[in-house]
Amino acid sequence: MALIVQKYGGSSVADPDRIANVANRVVKGWRDGNRMVVVLSAMAGETDRLINLARELAEDPDPRELDVLLATGEQVTVSLFSMFLRAQGVPATSLLSHQARIYTDRSYGRARIIGIDTARIREELKKNRVVTVAGFQGVDEVGNITTLGRGGSDTTAVAIAASLKADLCEIYTDVEGVFTTDPRIHPKARKLERIAYDEMLEMASLGAKILEIRSVGFAKRYNVPLAVRSSFTDAPGTLVTAEDEEMETIPVSGVAFSRNDARVTITRVPDRPGIAVRLFKPVAQANIVVDMIIQNTSIDGFTDLTFTVPKGDLKKTLELLGPVAREIGAQQVLGENNIAKVSIVGVGMKNNSGIAARMFEALAAANINIMMISTSEIKISCVIEDKYGELAVRLLHDAFGLENPPQKAPLQG
Ligand code: ADP
Ligand code: ASP
Ligand code: MG
Repeated sequence: MALIVQKYGGSSVADPDRIANVANRVVKGWRDGNRMVVVLSAMAGETDRLINLARELAEDPDPRELDVLLATGEQVTVSLFSMFLRAQGVPATSLLSHQARIYTDRSYGRARIIGIDTARIREELKKNRVVTVAGFQGVDEVGNITTLGRGGSDTTAVAIAASLKADLCEIYTDVEGVFTTDPRIHPKARKLERIAYDEMLEMASLGAKILEIRSVGFAKRYNVPLAVRSSFTDAPGTLVTAEDEEMETIPVSGVAFSRNDARVTITRVPDRPGIAVRLFKPVAQANIVVDMIIQNTSIDGFTDLTFTVPKGDLKKTLELLGPVAREIGAQQVLGENNIAKVSIVGVGMKNNSGIAARMFEALAAANINIMMISTSEIKISCVIEDKYGELAVRLLHDAFGLENPPQKAPLQG
């Protein structure tokens, strides 16, 4: 008998037929004698619909009230799901975040889980009930409803699995697992049997929305056995796990792609100590996450500074930096929205040379200009013009031969 946490994403609970279909999977697990906790997303499109509804009444909706609204999407699915199970004679109880005691901080719209008091979930499991938990939502210390950020139900599921020390956490979605790249962008994308936590973290942070990044962070920290599977087939899916030696022989395991960033350039910045902090402190104080930063070598004591921020924060960043740029005597602040970021990821990159050159070569062959580059031990990202984004994904996927399963290195000795 195992304790299993399953999470079903929006497309898996998009309508009553699909709810019934995935519920049958849960029933099977339960009838086999497993204890089942089921975390659900809102029906596909519902969270977007609620956001649009809010914007019809308020251009910039109050974050607290917006979270109260957005949390309703998941309330609908957990109740429907449990209702269906009960109608089949399977005991089930739905729990909202305050009932499941998922405690977060008060950053509405991007709240962090601080802790989960699993007593109530355990109590329900002891009574042999299937427990359905509303994903994406939490509650702060005084009872305000919060949400975790888009895609946050993944994080709910993994955090619950970690707290319960579950035997397995399964994320059910509309594709058969984690692929070498988004299968909707490249038909040659190949499903991975396994992926290392660190690779998955990079892929998620670089735009692969198959798993929300914080869920992978939790899985890594608490060593949660995590599987990504399709709710429409019985295929085995992808295991997200600690890395092993075999993974380290493969230099590139995936290509990620994001359209979420915008570029900010400040020209003719005086090159002297203290300038960077003058520019970046107000941005940090506004809770804006700066990603790639490039500073050119200075000529005549002046330099250009370029960095990226989330697209949604571009306007705010420009507003904040205009006055600072004037004060420090920089020339101008420019914003650019039409960029995409393509990245190659692989834990084996640290043991292989020449990977960056191959990436640049593949882009150059298609005459794609690289505007910015950033690297870490296990990834290389290039910012390019938006219109080449998907093409670049396909080119890089082909250049590194990712459609073919890697050859296993022969055993030595
Ligand atoms: P859910 O609603 O189930 O949470 P999401 O839409 O959040 O599903 O995530 C699944 C989607 O992630 C897939 O439909 C696919 O288009 C996209 N995706 C992006 N990168 C990858 C990847 N490397 N492997 C698999 N899917 C990916
Ligand atoms: N319903 C939320 C969203 O659409 C959370 C989730 O699906 O994970 O972002
Ligand atoms: Mg998702």
